[in-house]
Amino acid sequence: MRNLSAALQQRRAQHLYRRRQTVETPQGVQLRIDGQDCVSFCSNDYLGLASHPEVLRAFHEGLERFGTGSGAAHLITGHSYAHEALEEDLAAFTGRPRALLFSTGYQANLGVLAALAGPGDRVFQDRLNHASLLDGARLAGARLVRYRHRDAAALQAKLASAGSGGDRVIATDAVFSMDGDCADLAALHRLARRHEAWLLVDDAHGFGVLGEGGRGAFVAQLGDAGDDAILMATLGKACGTFGAFVAGGEALVETLIQKARTYIYTTAPPPALAWATRSALRLLAAADEHRAVLAERVERFRAGAAQLGLPLMESSTPIQPLVTGSAARALACSQALRERGLLVTAIRPPTVPEGSARLRITFSAQHDADHVDRLLDALRDVLGESDEPAGR
Ligand SMILES: *Cc1c(COP(=O)(O)O)cnc(C)c1O
Repeated sequence: MRNLSAALQQRRAQHLYRRRQTVETPQGVQLRIDGQDCVSFCSNDYLGLASHPEVLRAFHEGLERFGTGSGAAHLITGHSYAHEALEEDLAAFTGRPRALLFSTGYQANLGVLAALAGPGDRVFQDRLNHASLLDGARLAGARLVRYRHRDAAALQAKLASAGSGGDRVIATDAVFSMDGDCADLAALHRLARRHEAWLLVDDAHGFGVLGEGGRGAFVAQLGDAGDDAILMATLGKACGTFGAFVAGGEALVETLIQKARTYIYTTAPPPALAWATRSALRLLAAADEHRAVLAERVERFRAGAAQLGLPLMESSTPIQPLVTGSAARALACSQALRERGLLVTAIRPPTVPEGSARLRITFSAQHDADHVDRLLDALRDVLGESDEPAGR
């Protein structure tokens, strides 16, 4: 039996211990967290929809109409009119034949991969894909083949040397969640076509943020692709509520309903939540002005950070990480920012590769120019300090 306390102590010594902080206010850029008022640069609520009064109103209306719990799984009696209507909205919004709701993005990725691949099949994945995609391939029992980050030539070589047995799936984040850079979906789709593979695109951070009407990176780049391209997007980020959906062809969605265990063996999410999401989706579609503000904040940050010589990454999305190297330094910088009333999480291994711990800064349309300037001022002080602060 493992000694858990000793293992935890070791984690602490390596600066890898994780602890939760308690938020006392509604979601937004101004948070009260662990008793302290902060400006947050950590949320994925990119458009400020998580506390939007119209979404709250729809949630209340949904509660009155459908109650709190769904009572059962979708295939028993849990599938509500609210879920059905939201699926139709999502299919129409993304221009795909069908959409299927999942309780979370994690479950959606697990469900799709296990439905499409199994022992004897291969799942090709970008090395920096989200954990749920990697776990999905493992749970499916498929062979997981990882290729160099955003390197289509490396993927092509792996596809070519894989032989012809079994099915293939290529899976990628559209916007990489810890780096903010984007996959070349058109190039991946060409490779998928050539090698008769499915392409599964996780648009968690593109949906609501990128493309015309916030339809996301998938629709922008692969809008007229066939049913061999599959979209997964989450509803708990820019959409401000909770859950996820998979959009694709009729046969794919029907297959998921028959076979995706993370869809079948779980209670359907509260119908009122789906009702609130319908309202959030309408707001998201009409939020071009907010997306323009968001882009403006990102621009301002990048221009200011470049002037300060901060180590910016190649990202034009609201995810703007600054790599600090060691976990200890990332933690110390995050703590120093916190002392200035700015909340920026330190992201450490194993979430990111060893030696690439970072501050993960995210922007929201709710940030004003002054918030960005305060962050830049603080970063100048904090990152300008010695490379390896003592202690912590
Ligand atoms: C957040 C996220 C998920 C998981 O979605 P949840 O709804 O939070 O479970 C999956 N993929 C990516 C890229 C994500 O950022």
